[in-house]
Amino acid sequence: MKIAVLPGDGIGTEIVAEAIRVLDTLDLSFEMESALVGGAAYEAHGHPLPEATLKLAKEADAVLFGAVGDWKYDRLERSLRPEQAILGLRKNLGLFANFRPAICYEQLVGASSLKPELIAGLDILIIRELTGDIYFGQPRGRRIAVDGHFPGAEEAFDTMRYSRPEVERIAHVAFQAARKRSKRVTSVDKANVLETFQFWKDIVTEVGKEYPDVELDHMYVDNAAMQLVKAPKKFDVVVTGNMFGDILSDEAAMLTGSIGMLPSASLNAGNQGLYEPSHGSAPDIAGKGVANPLATILSAAMMLRFSLNQPDAADRIESAVKHVLAQGLRTADIWSAGTTKVGTREMGDAVVAAITKKAITG
Ligand code: NAD
Repeated sequence: MKIAVLPGDGIGTEIVAEAIRVLDTLDLSFEMESALVGGAAYEAHGHPLPEATLKLAKEADAVLFGAVGDWKYDRLERSLRPEQAILGLRKNLGLFANFRPAICYEQLVGASSLKPELIAGLDILIIRELTGDIYFGQPRGRRIAVDGHFPGAEEAFDTMRYSRPEVERIAHVAFQAARKRSKRVTSVDKANVLETFQFWKDIVTEVGKEYPDVELDHMYVDNAAMQLVKAPKKFDVVVTGNMFGDILSDEAAMLTGSIGMLPSASLNAGNQGLYEPSHGSAPDIAGKGVANPLATILSAAMMLRFSLNQPDAADRIESAVKHVLAQGLRTADIWSAGTTKVGTREMGDAVVAAITKKAITG
């Protein structure tokens, strides 16, 4: 088994270092090889996703990714910006299914901006289609309008599109995931306005007939955004397109209190995956040693479960994380009165210690 380790920029390097220490503690036999990506790769090689990094990622069974980006690159031409590395990896590895669990840990109920009764016990899974929709649709660009409200004026445009196979495969992923949970899928669309999402809704409904044991309902995206803050526990598996999923998964992340707690997995048809925290490179706290490494550590657990077939090792990491939270250890983003504030490294140390202790005591 080979893991490509791509720490990236900002807090990426700090949090990935802790995830690697946790993986090393498990005493499993896999090879790990690191490469530059994002702004760090641009500085060294003039491109955010150098050929050598892409080759390493393609050849690995899984990619452990930190985060990329910094505001200082915002003036670069789009193709050279750090964030293009993620889009390039998704496209080249065919990572079409993004899994973002939003779980509210019992000990962190108070960290959410929602009332405790709304989010206690929350455990939802957002499945976002990742390689289609308006983010990849062609044509796109700028031109002089020939029609519309202001003919002759400068305009910009993107193209929203989905093909039947793209919708079918993400729908299958969602129904199969639901079978392992409470057998409910909510498909989120905007079928009342967009042709693309009427097509989406029709196909998800068709695929749903192959899963009679799974309950399917449909919701418009504006209502879904509202229901996520009104009654989030009503959801179980949510499946949606690339752009709606981008927005709703960040909203769901905040229900749990901190984006620093949320892992994610992006998988292709062969179960090869890229695993990364749901947050960005957090330039505002980079280098300060205060970032929460738990989302990345939990992403490593997802990697062991989904791509490396090591469910027991994944369980060990997840129970170690629960253990350190129960001990009252908190990084600044999840800290509250009565708990102990720790830095990135100390949090990593605590997870390593919890795994080691459990191994000794059984
Ligand atoms: P961000 O997620 O980096 O940060 C948002 C806020 O959350 C900041 O206040 C930050 O300090 C905090 N935060 C994020 N992760 C944290 C953690 N682990 N522990 C504690 N606090 C944490 O989003 P942003 O500020 O909008 O973007 C910063 C850069 O990251 C941009 O260049 C953006 O393009 C990039 N970005 C990258 C990815 C990725 O690599 N997948 C995703 C989103 C944003």
